[in-house]
Amino acid sequence: MTDAKIPYSLNSKAVAEATRLWLQKRGVTLQEIAELVMLLQKKYYPNLTMEECIHNVEMVLSKREVQNAVLTGIQLDVLAEEGKLFAPLQDMIENDEGLYGVDEILAFSIVNVYGSIGFTNYGYVDKLKPGVLERLNDKTTGQIHTYLDDIVGAVAAAASSRIAHRKQAEREQELGLPHAPEDAEEAARRSSLENTEPE
Ligand code: MG
Repeated sequence: MTDAKIPYSLNSKAVAEATRLWLQKRGVTLQEIAELVMLLQKKYYPNLTMEECIHNVEMVLSKREVQNAVLTGIQLDVLAEEGKLFAPLQDMIENDEGLYGVDEILAFSIVNVYGSIGFTNYGYVDKLKPGVLERLNDKTTGQIHTYLDDIVGAVAAAASSRIAHRKQAEREQELGLPHAPEDAEEAARRSSLENTEPE
């Protein structure tokens, strides 16, 4: 019975793959999330390319904290669609009730990873609901995306924040200025025990 002594450990690749798969199953593409990033950042960085936006979305999605939030949110949406939650949670998530804000709180765990710029961006896309967010908020489809709309907005906001931090570092490097390594992302990386980002 040596198996009993092996500590629990989940393969990080499996979590990353499940995250990709479930986003895809729920009809959300990386391209669409990247389009939100472009919308948020193009006025600050006119030369920003879609490739950069997609890359930054991918980097955000490679973080375990983000993957955990994506999987948890999608799971609750799917269970609500199947009518499997207990009352009154079933009604609250099914109807995206105004007083139910746990979906947004979960999304904050994504935004948090990249610091305060992410909060401003998140608030902006959450209010405007552009592109993919408009579709996810369409209540006539029979699908429930109470969690996913906030999650997608948060991933876009986090990717925007990541770009802002990176661009600042790039600029300082170009100008030969001393560059402080301790940006929000570095701090988050160091404090996270679960982080598996191969960067
Ligand atoms: Mg929501």
